[in-house]
Amino acid sequence: MKKQRIVIKIGSSSLTSLNGSIDETKIRDHVRAIAALKKAGHEVIFISSGAVAAGFLQLGYPTRPVTLKGKQAAAAVGQSLLMKQYIQQFAEYELLCAQILLTRNDFVKRDRYRNAYATMIELIERGLIPIINENDSVSVEELTFGDNDMLSALVSGLIHADKLMILTDINGLYHENPVENPDAHRFDYIPDITEDLLSYASSSGSKVGTGGMKSKLLAAKTALSLGVNVFIGTGMGKDKLIQVLKGNGDGTYIGQSDLSSVNNHKQWIAFHSPISGKIIIDEGAEQALLEKGSSLLPAGVIDVCGNFAKGAVVKVCGPNGLAGKGQVLYSSEELLTIKGKRSDEVNCNKGIEVIHRNDWVSIKE
Ligand code: GLU
Repeated sequence: MKKQRIVIKIGSSSLTSLNGSIDETKIRDHVRAIAALKKAGHEVIFISSGAVAAGFLQLGYPTRPVTLKGKQAAAAVGQSLLMKQYIQQFAEYELLCAQILLTRNDFVKRDRYRNAYATMIELIERGLIPIINENDSVSVEELTFGDNDMLSALVSGLIHADKLMILTDINGLYHENPVENPDAHRFDYIPDITEDLLSYASSSGSKVGTGGMKSKLLAAKTALSLGVNVFIGTGMGKDKLIQVLKGNGDGTYIGQSDLSSVNNHKQWIAFHSPISGKIIIDEGAEQALLEKGSSLLPAGVIDVCGNFAKGAVVKVCGPNGLAGKGQVLYSSEELLTIKGKRSDEVNCNKGIEVIHRNDWVSIKE
């Protein structure tokens, strides 16, 4: 099989026990399965949850803390305990791993986003296993990834992974809750995440993690939009990940084979960039952007809202609502003077585009 770049996300309940400590046996099973994938020549990036769940007991909490400072301190304890386990266990397979802790801000700031990418690629190319988690101990509550499911989708897009495997304690997506209805049927394969599917999925998670099936499907939707196919399911034993790769995994496969990946600049505009203002455009410009893949020119601009500098990312709205986001080549002040003008009426010594198509991302609502 061709060498693949695979992101594996494992949730807290598959790494820790309910009492707030690491479950070495569970981790051993995952580590040997990841080692088998590496041995087969694949590149692996491991998104590991479990920091809070692994640390709260040692911190003196009887159950998962609910306060922010409790969770953040538990993560500080648990993250190092997890890494100790991973370093020891991967060493048994002569594999090295490396920790990367990310915050939402690391994706919002473009230079940090680029650095995170470069570090991950360097580690992968040198044969190590990057182990990624959210930097829970310092993340600001309002500015988190939400859960590691979404983090794993964003990382998969960033490094242009071939596949995202989300391992959990349920073997895939069912049309109803299988605990309540034993006749619930599992979806073995779904081509896309529809609103209907999202409505089947419960948002409640386990007692030790944060994400439920709904958060996994939302993450899968993001991964698909970035060109990455997804598997959500479970498994046991050394070959479980190899079997997932071969199409024999115990879970739900999501996506189609002909997805194309999205370049990092467009991913940053679509998912991470701060929005500095809004441009209102006419119908012709809306069609040109959405249907013809053209750039936005001054003639199509009706109005400009907010104060922004050249290089800022703005929302663009047409007669049919939000059309997309793009990085502007003019400040809001300059734009107000050229809006509505034909290109030959604009006296400028730089490119005429307000937003070049390379800096544009269409958004379907
Ligand atoms: N980052 C959290 C942790 O390590 C887990 C988030 C999640 O459960 O998705 O505890």
